[in-house]
Amino acid sequence: MRDFKYFMPVELYFGKNSVEKNSGIFKKFGKKALIVTGHSSAKKNGSQNDVVSALEKNNIKYCIFDKTEENPSLETVTEAARFAVEECVDFVIGIGGGSPMDSAKAIAFLAANPDENPEFLFEPGEAKHLPVVEIPTTAGTGSEVTQYSILTVKSRKIKMGVSKRTFANAAFLDPKYFMDIPVGVTRNTAVDAFTHLIEAYLCNENSVLSDILCEKGLKEFKKCKEALIEGQFNMDIRERLLIISTIAGMAISQSQTSLPHAMGYYLTYFKNLAHGPANAQFTKAFMDFVPEKDRVKDVLDFAGFESTGEIDEFFRKIVTRVQCSDEDINYYTDEMMKIKGKLSTVNRLISREDMYNMFKEGVM
Ligand code: NAP
Ligand code: FE
Repeated sequence: MRDFKYFMPVELYFGKNSVEKNSGIFKKFGKKALIVTGHSSAKKNGSQNDVVSALEKNNIKYCIFDKTEENPSLETVTEAARFAVEECVDFVIGIGGGSPMDSAKAIAFLAANPDENPEFLFEPGEAKHLPVVEIPTTAGTGSEVTQYSILTVKSRKIKMGVSKRTFANAAFLDPKYFMDIPVGVTRNTAVDAFTHLIEAYLCNENSVLSDILCEKGLKEFKKCKEALIEGQFNMDIRERLLIISTIAGMAISQSQTSLPHAMGYYLTYFKNLAHGPANAQFTKAFMDFVPEKDRVKDVLDFAGFESTGEIDEFFRKIVTRVQCSDEDINYYTDEMMKIKGKLSTVNRLISREDMYNMFKEGVM
């Protein structure tokens, strides 16, 4: 067996009213918090209110940054970090989907290093940061249990993973925040979690522990497929999708994501396609490309599909796809071939022609 390291240090609380029931936890992180949210969902689903009540109960001051956009930009987290420094906050609370949760981690680094150019986030090496608490309200990214933060970097015309990595100190998962997520967001985010499980299992940085997480996550996903097709989600399915998302996040935190995630960033950046559907477009081509056919068969068996083609049909039923020109595909192919860290997650040499063909198949 290969050597591996397991590290997932997030203190995790799952259950209805978990913020209220465990509100004393916030005291560990300081006397003033920056709450980071998207534009409106945290106000509507009750999560922001629960956090504010928990902070007030513990005499912790707070300020709110509610301008996080989808696929957050380096400019937005820089603005939020400036606000955090002005307000002298001690810690950051991300509430929402992956966008506010990823932003919270980036803000935690920028606020603790106010004299650095924001681009320092993309330089390798460690750095100090403020503590982070994450409260997911979409079931997809698993950002509450990953060390990753993905930002849109306009100067480089792409979404990029921040090189400065940190896990949250604590995370609260409350199924009640998920009840009214629109069908489209539910499907897009569930597909993101599903692709995390597939990529973590087929990526060559997997370990026996990430495999165990993927197997469980894929078997649970099998039980949600019908609901995703029908667009009907009861409490049981909502809870299952939430747990799948967290399990999938734990899996990618130990391995990483593979080609579909990196390839999908081009569709999100240039075609404005949501993150989950962007990954989905390349999943079949990726599964057909990886050499470990026995492991591809495991994925199909665990998730209850006959073939990679059937997975593709499933995606076509539930999420949007975009098309691209040959010029687009050539540009994406050339850019992807530079990302050696992703190319090396597959146990097979990838030629430019292979990559072009995967893009071509994905956007057909
Ligand atoms: P998102 O961009 O955070 O949110 C998508 C939409 O869902 C927003 O309009 C948001 O509204 C709304 N929303 C959130 N919670 C809701 C709720 N409970 N009810 C109704 N609407 C709700 O989407 P996401 O898919 O969760 O996150 C995507 C981002 O995460 C991408 O940038 C992706 O690259 C990143 N990601 C990170 C990791 C990681 O490991 N860190 C992994 C995968 C993906 P508001 O704006 O009003 O909140
Ligand atoms: Fe993802």
